[in-house]
Amino acid sequence: MLFENLGLAAELARAVAEQGYEKPTPIQAQAIPAVMRGGDIMAAAQTGTGKTAGFTLPLLHRLAQGAPARNNQVRALVLTPTRELAAQVFDNVQLYSKYLPLRHSVVFGGVKINPQMQRLRGGADILVATPGRLLDLYNQRAIRFDKLEALVLDEADRMLDMGFIHDIKRILKVLPAKRQNLLFSATFSPEIRQLAKGLVTDPVEIDV
Ligand code: AMP
Repeated sequence: MLFENLGLAAELARAVAEQGYEKPTPIQAQAIPAVMRGGDIMAAAQTGTGKTAGFTLPLLHRLAQGAPARNNQVRALVLTPTRELAAQVFDNVQLYSKYLPLRHSVVFGGVKINPQMQRLRGGADILVATPGRLLDLYNQRAIRFDKLEALVLDEADRMLDMGFIHDIKRILKVLPAKRQNLLFSATFSPEIRQLAKGLVTDPVEIDV
């Protein structure tokens, strides 16, 4: 399997080639086609497996086909447990979308909220966020989810370990029901399976 066989937009293929990636990792080979088709996935994957490109590349491919976000809209939301992971995922998003006319944002707690509110005014095609700050921004009307197309929970097991379940549930309540859901977790404990039940529909299950 080569990246060219995946049918990613030329702008994405170019950015991937510049990274020197020769072929998709096992999780990418499974996740990229499934996400490009628009379905839900549930993937067991540790860091280091290439999971970030496994969801950012096909999401960017889909987002590039629609109208860009504007006016506080968010089209794809990626939730992460920590600001470090949020920053890493955001770096990946920026890297792979360098040839696409999309704009992305990252928000997390522990820093001033005002600059984040200002950046969100123009909208974000992908917003990478930690749960608490996301809720603060939503409650202050800095974010609109009416155009939301996709939700990613990255490292869902760590989010539960860190006590984010209530924040996640609050967030799920304000998202449009019709959306694509991608769930990534290092392990699939009974708690994660329970969360998955209310989240993903007919998911492609990936275990690498
Ligand atoms: P992740 O598991 O998403 O944290 O990615 C781990 C590392 O693998 C990152 O430094 C990526 O840049 C790199 N990577 C992702 N996909 C590929 C690939 N197909 N070939 C080589 N390296 C990759």
